[in-house]
Amino acid sequence: MRWTMSSDRVPEAWYNVVPHLPEPLQPPLHPGTREPVTPDLLTPLFPMALIRQEMSAETYIDIPGEVLDILRMWRPTPLIRARRLEQALDTPARIYFKDESVSPAGSHKPNTAIPQAFYNKAEGVKRLTTETGAGQWGSALSYACSLFDMECKVYMVRASYEQKPYRRVMMETWGGEVVPSPIDQPDHPGSLGTAITDAVRDAVSRDDSHYSLGSVLNHVLLHQTVIGLEAREQLQLAGEEKPDLVIGCCGGGSNLGGLALPFVADPDVELLAVEPSSCPTLTEGKFEYDFGDSAGMTPLLAMYTLGHDFIPPSIHAGGLRYHGDAPIISNLVKAGRMRATAYPQGKVFEAAIQFARTQGPIPAPETAHAIRATIDEAIRAREEGQERVILFGYSGHGLLDLQAYDDYLAGKLEDV
Ligand SMILES: *Cc1c(COP(=O)(O)O)cnc(C)c1O
Repeated sequence: MRWTMSSDRVPEAWYNVVPHLPEPLQPPLHPGTREPVTPDLLTPLFPMALIRQEMSAETYIDIPGEVLDILRMWRPTPLIRARRLEQALDTPARIYFKDESVSPAGSHKPNTAIPQAFYNKAEGVKRLTTETGAGQWGSALSYACSLFDMECKVYMVRASYEQKPYRRVMMETWGGEVVPSPIDQPDHPGSLGTAITDAVRDAVSRDDSHYSLGSVLNHVLLHQTVIGLEAREQLQLAGEEKPDLVIGCCGGGSNLGGLALPFVADPDVELLAVEPSSCPTLTEGKFEYDFGDSAGMTPLLAMYTLGHDFIPPSIHAGGLRYHGDAPIISNLVKAGRMRATAYPQGKVFEAAIQFARTQGPIPAPETAHAIRATIDEAIRAREEGQERVILFGYSGHGLLDLQAYDDYLAGKLEDV
């Protein structure tokens, strides 16, 4: 029921889907001139190696040995068959999940935090700045910086900083410096938009610092493809030729992309993105050029968006509250290569509880979106009498989200 592989089976190259997309990817545009951005616009924020990856047309990009050595501390992550969930659903579908919760930070995010810290360090950068909502990305980057002896400054949305102290404690344990954002308005609850603005301003104001982003961009999705590359091999070990359906939750698109992109070239594999109905970017947004941040400072990205000034209601799946989506994911949805669906959080927590009471692990509220869709697809397989192989991404554990479970169990969770 559980397929692990030895540490020498971590993929040695990332898979770049860009040359294999159904339609060419539209380039990011300069916000002033609306011309495609040139590398020099990005050099105050990112190292050259990451800018090259962002624009690369090579199918495989080698993973540096030093990065591999670190990933091997917890990778390959297990592929697990959810046999007890299958039994509870009485479904002929075979359900597998790829467990990214085993990383030190408890999610898939270190897969990109580690190479980002590595390339910055290699180009002489001593300090990284970033923003974080509930703290998942900030904790992954603090961990990565601690491994490369770099400073990490995290601007944390003030409301989370005050209400969710435990991820702040994780960041500080790894040596990160965490401040509430917006830094200059102590009565403002903050948003990802204000935190991005603070982090970018800080990075451009200092020669020794760069900025780091945890999702959305091409190079971030590239780094996450170790998930899908491993899962392909592990499914074969499990005796499956390939999945019929790959499902992932989608905030900015990095864990979904990491799992699904290595299957894009196979037309028989269906791909499904799951998002909250309160932030329905792919299912109800418009495909157009928009800013990546709410202050309107970043290049314009071609993506599904709810508008950069959209402020989603505060749901428990904080990692899925983003107004846009990765250009790569948006491209696949627009071309009809990937489907998207949305759920309200009550239905999502119902699925999380069913998973916890059959399989055991307590999923992150974000991850529970993928579980909701998996359960519904498995029920459909039962109704249609189809033996389907479903693979979903278990992006992280929910052990720092127990307040959300407490609210749900007490009947206090609002279905926004
Ligand atoms: C951050 C996060 C997400 C959402 O981000 P993506 O870039 O869409 O993957 C999902 N699950 C977990 C556990 C996260 O920490």
